[in-house]
Amino acid sequence: MINVLVTNDDGVFSEGIKALAEAIGEVAHVMVVAPDREQSASGHSLTLHHPLRIRKVRDHWFTVDGTPADCVNLAIHGLLKEAPPDLVVSGINFGLNLGNDVTYSGTVSATFEASLQKLPAIAFSQEVAEGFSFERAAGFARLMVGKMIEDGLPERLLLNVNVPADPYTGVAITRLGHRFYRQTVVEKRDPRGRRYYWIGGVPEWETEEGTDHAAITSGRISITPLHLDLTDYHGLEGFDGLTRELDQAVKQADDDDSNASDA
Ligand code: MN
Repeated sequence: MINVLVTNDDGVFSEGIKALAEAIGEVAHVMVVAPDREQSASGHSLTLHHPLRIRKVRDHWFTVDGTPADCVNLAIHGLLKEAPPDLVVSGINFGLNLGNDVTYSGTVSATFEASLQKLPAIAFSQEVAEGFSFERAAGFARLMVGKMIEDGLPERLLLNVNVPADPYTGVAITRLGHRFYRQTVVEKRDPRGRRYYWIGGVPEWETEEGTDHAAITSGRISITPLHLDLTDYHGLEGFDGLTRELDQAVKQADDDDSNASDA
């Protein structure tokens, strides 16, 4: 059996990670290393300015007083150094992680960190609405991971899986959708009259076929392959003119400097 590291951003005591660890435990050796408290929307942050502690909760279950990315790091380079994981799975998150939200998501960022450490990784997130079930989502995760283990895990694997609340009507391979918020910051006054702000608002999605959002709204499970190369390859050409001008200006300034110091 392969070794699977299970983590999340909702914290080690959340229902979603319990369902996921138990389900994956039927097809692999599972080790859980997860934040000791909720770390949702922590993104891909690493804790570098204070020490981290690992605490054993029970056999094969550990908590870290840090972020999901901390957990993946400590697991790979510390706790599981002798028997490193073959796969990292994250979730099952309480709530979807679609489109632009993936960079905020601690659930997905745990898989980004795994990918940087050259490990295959899958994030699972559950739509929270009437009728949703972590058990059903965990059953799908076991089916999916079980099949992938049978077929042999590809070397480069970074998948973002979102599961609808309704009974599943199918599975779709998707691209990230685009979200926009109508209103994002609410300004209020605290009891001392000082302003405070609350980031929020009602998310709205562009309704485009082929996106993760479109799959979920039609009751399908969405699987989005991701990669961490954020380079805009179209943009490389678009900046040719500007780059040439800046390049000349920098070289000219350098020449002027050396002329000045010669004088
Ligand atoms: Mn979360």
